[in-house]
Amino acid sequence: MLTARVLSDHADEVIILEPDDLVENDTGLGSPQRHQLHALLSMGRTQLERWLPGITQELIDAGAQLGSGKDVQFYVDGAMRPPVPGLQMIGATRSFLESHVRRRVLTLPNVHIQAGRAHDLIFSGRRVGGVRFSAIGDTPATPDGDLDADLVVDAMGRSSRLGTWLDRNAWDRAPLDRMTIDLGYATAVFHRGDELPNTVVAHATPGPSSGYQPTLSEPGALVAVEENRWTVVLAGYTNYRPGRDPDEFRARMRRCVTALRRVADHCEMDGKVKTFQFRESQRRDFTRLARFPGGLVAVGDSVASVNPIYGQGLTLAALQASCLSAHLRAGSSPHEPAWAYFRRVAAVVDAAWQLSTTADLAQPHVTGPYPRGYRLIRWAGDKITAASVVDPLVNKAYMDVVHMRAHPRTLTRPSVLLRTTRALSASARRPVPLPTQPGQR
Ligand SMILES: Cc1cc2nc3c(=O)[nH]c(=O)nc-3n(C[C@H](O)[C@H](O)[C@H](O)COP(=O)(O)OP(=O)(O)OC[C@H]3O[C@@H](n4cnc5c(N)ncnc54)[C@H](O)[C@@H]3O)c2cc1C
Repeated sequence: MLTARVLSDHADEVIILEPDDLVENDTGLGSPQRHQLHALLSMGRTQLERWLPGITQELIDAGAQLGSGKDVQFYVDGAMRPPVPGLQMIGATRSFLESHVRRRVLTLPNVHIQAGRAHDLIFSGRRVGGVRFSAIGDTPATPDGDLDADLVVDAMGRSSRLGTWLDRNAWDRAPLDRMTIDLGYATAVFHRGDELPNTVVAHATPGPSSGYQPTLSEPGALVAVEENRWTVVLAGYTNYRPGRDPDEFRARMRRCVTALRRVADHCEMDGKVKTFQFRESQRRDFTRLARFPGGLVAVGDSVASVNPIYGQGLTLAALQASCLSAHLRAGSSPHEPAWAYFRRVAAVVDAAWQLSTTADLAQPHVTGPYPRGYRLIRWAGDKITAASVVDPLVNKAYMDVVHMRAHPRTLTRPSVLLRTTRALSASARRPVPLPTQPGQR
């Protein structure tokens, strides 16, 4: 949707081809993760506002929550990080967020949606000149057909078949990097009262003190969303994945941080627990190809889809839309291979990939691939994480990276490393309060 918004500045007409009936019947078929908790990182909100000015207020007016300061709580090993000034997060379900974004984008006079499923590319010499699609449902007015286009965008998500279509037409598919993480996810919705008046987001992950295991606190998150509800997600790797049983779900929430415990103790569940398996993070690197057709780009999960625990996917897709804008504003012809676009995208994806895979490699069952210098990265990452809990400036540097407002390499700045060393030696000199144990109030 944001890519369509970007293209509306450059094209006479933008057509979104979509098989899922999102407006009438939000089944989530096309992106089955749609019904899991979706947190929008601070940079994601900034990007939304960039492309759809006023959308934050529109979402709030319709019932979304806006969190900042102490309303946005990030915990590591059960200990709360200091609040970060300027960091804002919207509390809304993905369906709600998406429906508002869709409504705004579809009011643009040159953007239209067409019900249909793409099933091949149409080539015109060395460039893509359109898409072949099959119509969806009982719509004789829109028979199967071809859509001509100056630029085709693959926004088909994780299950994109772009590689198969390139192969079929004698082009190479982009090399795929993958990291098997074997993650289980479960989301439940609860009625929201006044049990946590000052919380919009609470997000808990294990960290270095627990060896990244769920011993000090369960990994999980909650977000205050529209219609006075909470969405709560729990996560676990390999055999420790959360199931659908509502009592087990609550029991596990009680082993997480206070916010989740309170909701487990005081709130009624609304509907069923929905689970999701996420086997691997993956990214396609188009910059490693020797040749690529003009008239074609890819955005979002079809380029990179990383461990959802870090909540990067929507923001990554939004940043890629901005990369496309920069590419087209630089005067690049849509008919030429979009190398400069893919280089911009690779820089953004690298940042997200680095953060999520470095964290995932701390899990014993995740066995690579390891980046160069991994041991040093891990050591420094552990120190910075530990220091971020006690030092607001280290925490700001760290959270700017988590929220994709800064590149991970900013964490290796001498000022951050010096501050980390000082914070850790100061905290070693004073008695350190233990993180709250699961079950304690
Ligand atoms: C369990 C889970 C939890 C997540 N939590 C978060 C989170 O908290 N925060 C966050 O930012 N991200 C999260 N993500 C990631 C986020 O869901 C994705 O990054 C995001 O949906 C990517 O958007 P996309 O448009 O690229 O793909 P999708 O949202 O998957 O959309 C793909 C679209 O393409 C359509 N399509 C598919 N095939 C065709 C075809 N042949 N022709 C035409 N259309 C087609 C589909 O119908 C669909 O509408 C999570 C992911 C998972 C799996």
